[in-house]
Amino acid sequence: MSQKMNMTTKIMIWMGCGLVIGSLINAFASDIAFVQDYLVNGLFHVVGAIFISALKMLVVPLVTFSLICGVCGIGDVGILGRVGVKAFLLFMLTTALAITLAITVAVLVGPGEGFDMSSTAESTFVAQPAPPLTQVFIDLVPSNPVAAYAEGNMLQIIFFTILFAVCVLMIGERGKPIADGAERLNEVMMQVVNVVMHAAPIGVFALIAKTFSQQGLGMILPMISYFGVVAVVLILHATGTLMILLKLLGRVSPMMFLKKMRSVQIFAFSTSSSNATIPVTLRTTEKRLGVDNSTASFVVPFGATINMDGTAIMQGVATVFIANVYGIDLGIAGYLTVIGMAVLASIGTAGVPGVGLIMLAMVFNQVGLPVEGIALIMGVDRLLDMMRTAVNVTGDAAVTTIVARGEDKISMETFNDPVAGQVEEVHLPHQQPIKA
Ligand code: ASP
Repeated sequence: MSQKMNMTTKIMIWMGCGLVIGSLINAFASDIAFVQDYLVNGLFHVVGAIFISALKMLVVPLVTFSLICGVCGIGDVGILGRVGVKAFLLFMLTTALAITLAITVAVLVGPGEGFDMSSTAESTFVAQPAPPLTQVFIDLVPSNPVAAYAEGNMLQIIFFTILFAVCVLMIGERGKPIADGAERLNEVMMQVVNVVMHAAPIGVFALIAKTFSQQGLGMILPMISYFGVVAVVLILHATGTLMILLKLLGRVSPMMFLKKMRSVQIFAFSTSSSNATIPVTLRTTEKRLGVDNSTASFVVPFGATINMDGTAIMQGVATVFIANVYGIDLGIAGYLTVIGMAVLASIGTAGVPGVGLIMLAMVFNQVGLPVEGIALIMGVDRLLDMMRTAVNVTGDAAVTTIVARGEDKISMETFNDPVAGQVEEVHLPHQQPIKA
């Protein structure tokens, strides 16, 4: 092939292949032990798991170095506080808009009315105890930063790193070598992201092929009303609400934004984890959308933890669906509680696969819906998790862009350049040691 294909196109092609091969296996080879053992649970599983580990491996060092650079780059704690407050409010706003839209559409469509419970596979859902909200605030401060880093606890890492970086600033000249060192380490980590991204086509292929070979699309059918409403609202939010906010508050082109976000969305879709996608979201907001490191390094990891628009949408529709199935009328007060709970629940929960169902149990407990009802929607949750995670990361990047625009911390030249920051070929050094 003489003409070089860009990375997003490559990833999309491999993703399509994964989808087709996975679905074929599901349809025709789900009983063939050889295919299951060696391909689905062998090759696809191993390659996919390695790819996810490789992404997760980047998160903690990248966020740490990038955040130290970001804080030292801002240099003013007041501005940092302002950026934090703006981002927080926007994250809450987008989540509240998302779930309000979800509940409105779901109430209008009425999924679950006259639902035949025997039409879905029997499964049970055991709710995990939710941490009280007070604990969420206490947990913001790590009693042991090393443990926070080891566990990848994002809010604790953000808290400690910001405090550390502010103190680097406070010691003045003597802190400069640390700030410079962090900047170089950040550059190195960005390069590691580049290298890992070259494995993305294969990694995405393996993840998608495995998921679709195990999750036949046929299982959606009995749940089509629920699945369809969630999917439609996810699309409406990602291409409507968020884009209107980007246009009105950020004054940037939504088309360009969406075009550049495609690969981030695919990463989120195939990993089902906003956290594991942080390296790609960070790289894209900085290199492709032109957001300054001082804003992106803080807002992106913050958003991956506290902002979950897609998850809120699933919770809104699930609430209406289960209420309809069990014939319970929640009323306006009930729905307002659901909105408030979903927004609060998203703050303390990390962006990892499947966490949405745990949050849903918290919401159900609050409004008195039967938690066992969650078992009904579990069967299709794997696919919806993929879709909503793509929307979650879109929200993270949209808010980052809006905040950066408001702070004049975005290069519009980079934003408007369609090829800016595309993943380039990586050249492994053969003969140029740094020290002669
Ligand atoms: N998987 C989602 C995320 O990482 C969270 C969820 O909805 O389960 O953003």
